[in-house]
Amino acid sequence: MAVQPWRTGKVIRIENETSSTRRFWIEIPELPSFDFKPGQFVTLDLPIDEKPSKRWRSYSIASWPDGTNIIELVIVLLEGGLGTNYLFNHVTVGSELILRGPQGVFTLPDVIDKDLFFICTGTGIAPFRSMAHYIRDHDVPHQNIYLIFGCRLLCDGLYNSEMKELASQMSSFNYIPTYSREGGDNTEIRRGYVHAIYEEICKEKGITAARFYLCGWKNMIDEAKQRIQALGFDRKSIHQELYG
Ligand SMILES: Cc1cc2nc3c(=O)[nH]c(=O)nc-3n(C[C@H](O)[C@H](O)[C@H](O)COP(=O)(O)OP(=O)(O)OC[C@H]3O[C@@H](n4cnc5c(N)ncnc54)[C@H](O)[C@@H]3O)c2cc1C
Repeated sequence: MAVQPWRTGKVIRIENETSSTRRFWIEIPELPSFDFKPGQFVTLDLPIDEKPSKRWRSYSIASWPDGTNIIELVIVLLEGGLGTNYLFNHVTVGSELILRGPQGVFTLPDVIDKDLFFICTGTGIAPFRSMAHYIRDHDVPHQNIYLIFGCRLLCDGLYNSEMKELASQMSSFNYIPTYSREGGDNTEIRRGYVHAIYEEICKEKGITAARFYLCGWKNMIDEAKQRIQALGFDRKSIHQELYG
């Protein structure tokens, strides 16, 4: 695929989603519409280093293709992180951002003929939010979808009410948040890591064919790949977007 040109985007809206996570809406005025596939990402060229390659940071597009030239990113502030500190401390509504994209092959299959497991932690939910809305808006034929989202505390939840709303509109869409440091015991809040959940669903439902999409940081992805294969699924049924 041809390398995309760098374009100038304009930040048109910023909202705090949690205490450490922000949603950024970026308009690309030179394009009538920014076309992408759900699951793809853009790369920002941030003024944080002399060397171009050290300035680039990639972010999944959290919105879904809607025919406009506006995209949404959801970004977590990393302590000591050069790029995210720049985005959180220097970028305001009206700021310009240099970006390239869409990029990436972490996208839905042409035909969704198996159950989909969307497994993520933190801002790794971004590509799955895009995919889920796209499937609903376009009535894409599909099987069951399990969005398994992990974070530490209830207050770290991202798009929580929106995902619950989607689940209430699509009976095939199952949204299962889990918290590593909250809930459990006699509460309705699921405590623990993401892994126990897909293992439980696969065993209880006797699922033998599925596609697993993993998105987030290395520890979660490495462990999930091992466990999914231990369940008997082929490596080819696993797709991943590694954030770092
Ligand atoms: C394809 C792709 C899509 C991505 N999409 C998103 C997204 O939608 N939202 C988002 O917030 N980030 C996303 N990332 C991560 C993002 O590109 C940056 O790595 C992140 O924002 C940190 O940049 P920084 O400059 O602040 O930190 P740096 O100074 O570059 O990072 C310092 C170190 O911390 C590690 N690190 C970075 N982030 C984390 C983290 N959260 N937890 C633990 N270790 C970490 C890095 O691997 C690096 O070694 C994506 C990465 C890729 C490759």
